[in-house]
Amino acid sequence: TPTATDHHVSLAEEWVASNYHPLPVVISHAEGAWVTDVEGRRYLDALAGYSALNFGHLNPILIGAAREQLERLTLTSRAFHSDRLGPFCRDLAALAGKELVLPMNTGAEAVETAIKTSRKWGYEVKGVPDGRARIVVMAGNFHGRTTTIISFSDDPVAHDHYGPYTPGFDTVPYGDLDALEAAITDETVAVLLEPIQGEGGVIIPPDGWLRGVRELTSERGVLMLADEIQSGLGRTGTTFACDLEDVVPDVYILGKALGGGIVPVSAVVADRSVLGVFTPGSHGSTFGGNPLGAAVGQAVVGLLATGEYQERAERLGKVLADGLDRLVGHGIDAVRCRGLWAGVDLDPSLMTGREASHRLLEHGVLVKDTHGSTVRIAPPLVIEEHEIEVLVDAFERILR
Ligand code: PLP
Repeated sequence: TPTATDHHVSLAEEWVASNYHPLPVVISHAEGAWVTDVEGRRYLDALAGYSALNFGHLNPILIGAAREQLERLTLTSRAFHSDRLGPFCRDLAALAGKELVLPMNTGAEAVETAIKTSRKWGYEVKGVPDGRARIVVMAGNFHGRTTTIISFSDDPVAHDHYGPYTPGFDTVPYGDLDALEAAITDETVAVLLEPIQGEGGVIIPPDGWLRGVRELTSERGVLMLADEIQSGLGRTGTTFACDLEDVVPDVYILGKALGGGIVPVSAVVADRSVLGVFTPGSHGSTFGGNPLGAAVGQAVVGLLATGEYQERAERLGKVLADGLDRLVGHGIDAVRCRGLWAGVDLDPSLMTGREASHRLLEHGVLVKDTHGSTVRIAPPLVIEEHEIEVLVDAFERILR
């Protein structure tokens, strides 16, 4: 007889477009760092919704904020004010040390918003001739799925057969300051980067690179845009991954965990000299800044303002790194770790990342492969030390 899992997997296979290839587990409940499937089996969540669940599943403070807001006001559109948007943007700006917030919903929308911001800034502030603005991007980037964003992706699966593509982007190797310097022209308005490349496999750039980008962009009058959608909001043991090098970009692009794993909330955060280019009607979103999202987002900022999650990520990240480092040479070729975020390169002769994810699932741990033989680990920051041992033990067992 078919199980509940079989039932739901076959329904999804019949009715859902195949733009994803999920692991064969059907989740129905979750709490903290754990999820439960329709068979009643529990799994340790070591993916955390690609870092959207930094504060854990059903975080009581975030659920409380959402529930309270649900019973009061969910949507006004930006045609009117709500009593939620101002306080959220004030607190988020303070967290980022910036002056203005432009709220959106998904990560890709926030990246699009940052691209539009830089072009408009380029024409209206920097004085680039209209229509000529260029943005330097990094090889191996992942910034989302819209037509413009995939235009400068070098991943064929994400990019191919979606042309004609949006022009105006120049790609340089990630972590290569000389190449970046050579790519900047008088028409360059921005450099767009991930401080650590998440989808790329938790790729950490060479020490000093971010600082070098900061100095170069300041000297050349180019905006530095940090896509912290996956790296930001506590994941790396700091509020932003840029903090690891004491770098302050001109623009933070935030998403994922900003919505607490409850609703999509994203934002572009920058000073007035940059975000001030927008005028009424020049950009917008029906749901961007909605009261429900703003209530949850403000609660998220409240959690980060205590520093507790950043401290956990830093402390427990060391436990994770130590545990995984022990497996290097025993089925694992390399581990890259920052805070509670790790890219694990398996010995490709042993198994693919996909096979590893399957086997970890059988051992009660949820992860997802990225490219080839790499598995990404990003547990909720509420994970406990003994649960990290569970994770490392599961790895050890599948490698035996
Ligand atoms: N930017 C980065 C660095 C991401 O990791 C992602 C999602 O994985 C995005 C942008 C796109 O976010 P969304 O899927 O919410 O559009």
